[in-house]
Amino acid sequence: MDSIEDSFDNMMKLVHTLGDKIKKSNHELYQKRFDLTVQDAIDYITEKKKNIKFDDYQFQFPKNSPLEHYWNYQMWVYEEYEGVDFSKQGLITYQKEKSFSGGNLCIDKGYITIVDKMATNLDIRLEQVVTSISDYEMNKDKDYISITTNNNKTYLGKKVLITIPLGVLKSGMIEFTPQLPDYKLKAINDLEMGLMNKVAIQFKKRFWDKRLKRIVYVSENKGEYPWIEVVDNEKAVIFCWLACSSAERIELQTDKEILDNILTILKQIYKNEPMEIKDYYITRWKQDIYSRGSWSGKD
Ligand SMILES: Cc1cc2nc3c(=O)[nH]c(=O)nc-3n(C[C@H](O)[C@H](O)[C@H](O)COP(=O)(O)OP(=O)(O)OC[C@H]3O[C@@H](n4cnc5c(N)ncnc54)[C@H](O)[C@@H]3O)c2cc1C
Repeated sequence: MDSIEDSFDNMMKLVHTLGDKIKKSNHELYQKRFDLTVQDAIDYITEKKKNIKFDDYQFQFPKNSPLEHYWNYQMWVYEEYEGVDFSKQGLITYQKEKSFSGGNLCIDKGYITIVDKMATNLDIRLEQVVTSISDYEMNKDKDYISITTNNNKTYLGKKVLITIPLGVLKSGMIEFTPQLPDYKLKAINDLEMGLMNKVAIQFKKRFWDKRLKRIVYVSENKGEYPWIEVVDNEKAVIFCWLACSSAERIELQTDKEILDNILTILKQIYKNEPMEIKDYYITRWKQDIYSRGSWSGKD
């Protein structure tokens, strides 16, 4: 009998095969590709496989059983890649990211060192929130563009390069005159903005074994603090990953609610250990009006 992980991986292979088949055969479903989600494919496959006994137990979990929770955890592991639930990810465009070879690299003192270097001698104006971008005529030259900011400053230029996040474009924070062309609006609408948040907590004293790297927590509700990662043993820092719709829900909670929930999980594992929080940081990228999410997830 396959493990749940293997079964889930096998099912995801079938999801890809199904997507490829629909695409290659130009099946009528291909025309509806923007309505067809990864979740639709999973529903189709699991329903079908139940009839032909895909495996012995995987799709017959009693509702709300630990097995079902674990199955949902496996799903979250896949979903968090895009930061978007499968019910919002398009099947045809869905595919696992291909990684570059080699390990990860941490930049000493952070990425900001690169940005600072690149920004040397550039005329960068901070605290200028752009509210509108319009065509502008100057001295009978219609080729100008004006940019207005929320402190009523106007900047003129021949070209504008817009690098604000997709989430901000979707929110309509910037008014375009004339409106962006339809194909651009369609692209903005069709792409989803994914979400990933992190909650970093520093304790007064480390209470975990220093060989520990990550706690995997299988919650009843999918996506509630599934990964609790050790960042620094010396400084007693951990962080929790949150992603997809559960992250969106959790963002709306107060700091206290979030921290209490994490402590409740940790106390199930470290029953008698004192846990005193020294400091913490919670990101809320969806609420951040200058981001409205973390990255573009496919649709
Ligand atoms: C938790 C997390 C993990 C991530 N992991 C990865 C990863 O592993 N790999 C990866 O490639 N990416 C990752 N990302 C995404 C990464 O942050 C982006 O790819 C990267 O920052 C994009 O850079 P950018 O310059 O396009 O946008 P940003 O860094 O978002 O910069 C956009 C800027 O526009 C500004 N802005 C917004 N609205 C306005 C306005 N109206 N007027 C003026 N300025 C405005 C914002 O304040 C911001 O400074 C992650 C993001 C998060 C949140």
